[in-house]
Amino acid sequence: VSVEELTAESYKRVKELDGDVQAFLALNEEKATAQSKEMDKVPFEERGPLFGLPIGVKDNIVTEGIITTCSSKILENFNPIYDATVVHKLRDAGLVTIGKLNMDEFAMGSSTENSAYKTTRNPWNLDHVPGGSSGGSAAAVAAGEVPFSLGSDTGGSIRQPASFCGVVGMKPTYGRVSRSGLVAFASSLDQIGPITRNVEDNAFLLEAISGLDKNDSTSANVEVPSFTKSLTGDIKGLRIAVPKEYLGQGVGEASRQSVLDALKVLESLGAVWEEVSLPHSKYALATYYLLSSSEASSNLARFDGIRYGFRAENVQNLMELYKETRAQGFGDEVKRRIMLGTYSLSAGSYDAYYKKAQQVRTLIKQDFETVFENYDVIIGPTTPTPAFKIGENVKDPLTMYANDILTIPVNLAGVPGISIPCGFSDGLPLGLQIIGKHFDEATIYRVAHAYE
Ligand code: GLN
Repeated sequence: VSVEELTAESYKRVKELDGDVQAFLALNEEKATAQSKEMDKVPFEERGPLFGLPIGVKDNIVTEGIITTCSSKILENFNPIYDATVVHKLRDAGLVTIGKLNMDEFAMGSSTENSAYKTTRNPWNLDHVPGGSSGGSAAAVAAGEVPFSLGSDTGGSIRQPASFCGVVGMKPTYGRVSRSGLVAFASSLDQIGPITRNVEDNAFLLEAISGLDKNDSTSANVEVPSFTKSLTGDIKGLRIAVPKEYLGQGVGEASRQSVLDALKVLESLGAVWEEVSLPHSKYALATYYLLSSSEASSNLARFDGIRYGFRAENVQNLMELYKETRAQGFGDEVKRRIMLGTYSLSAGSYDAYYKKAQQVRTLIKQDFETVFENYDVIIGPTTPTPAFKIGENVKDPLTMYANDILTIPVNLAGVPGISIPCGFSDGLPLGLQIIGKHFDEATIYRVAHAYE
């Protein structure tokens, strides 16, 4: 097939399905079609493995000439004047950007219900959430609207929706992928990563977007190996750690059982597993919500009605302009985080909250380092339960936060983690989480591929 046909096919799927799924916020049809026609002229020998394939991009990744809202009213008409580094890399690899994908506002949430524009639905059961915050990215791939998407993961936002939607989602090592052009939520935790239908596609896409970038001082000067080369199927002698905290209290029976079943499969392929402990996991949620909200309160200060997007009308002076723009432009969850973050950074509370949380973060990181002295990967469920119903948790932020208990420690430690499908419960997918050492995505992919 030609690139033009592939592109057209993707838009056809979007038009057929997105009325139900509601994954896309903006389509790039005219430009993508023009691009696809040009691409058909490129000789075959110059085409890489991803050439001509359609991709959707989460709406917190800036795209020149395509409105980028972060699913917030405050950016309703923000038209970026440059492309994020990853978007350049997609184009270099020959991928065609089909459109922008719905998310929780500023990536704060676990269900995509915090979008100011629409609620994305889980393609497996439209009454259920797709997860979040990259819910649009996971749902679009699960529905077959696009074979590839990019999400971002600050505390689980790639892995949790991948798990809920039965697709493959990778949160790379912090620093592996440039954050230049990713609208910052919590800069010390945010990472962009690929969502795909299988492990091999995922490995190809991560290879394409990784690497040092002079525009992101936190991007790492570490060689990018060929991740696809590690898909050998051979995991003989691999040492797997299973944290008891990941199968214990608060984790549903279906999630627990599916992981035990997956471990049997891995054992039959020659791996060995043992139970370990990540003793500080119980502090991860509190630590994460404090640190990420603190960073967010600072990062979101730039949305003041002057520089980008929405601006409140009928105001008398500058202070009122700021206040009204932010009061009208931000949704409830974003305001909740800004207030929590501002409070914990204020002079009187800094030592008791922010500084303490930083110290606990170090302990959590050390838990992982200790386990990785003796094991190659850590395995557990991605989420305590399969996708919940739309509306079920919206009124209860604490229950919503608790959903992230198994994904958040990975971000705090900065290590990579993937979610791959590992069964169903009541017709809804379950995810297996495989966590690796810093910059060892290759081993994660090897295990994931052998299991798949
Ligand atoms: N659900 C988490 C939160 O609301 C994770 C978000 C994310 O990873 N972007 O903060």
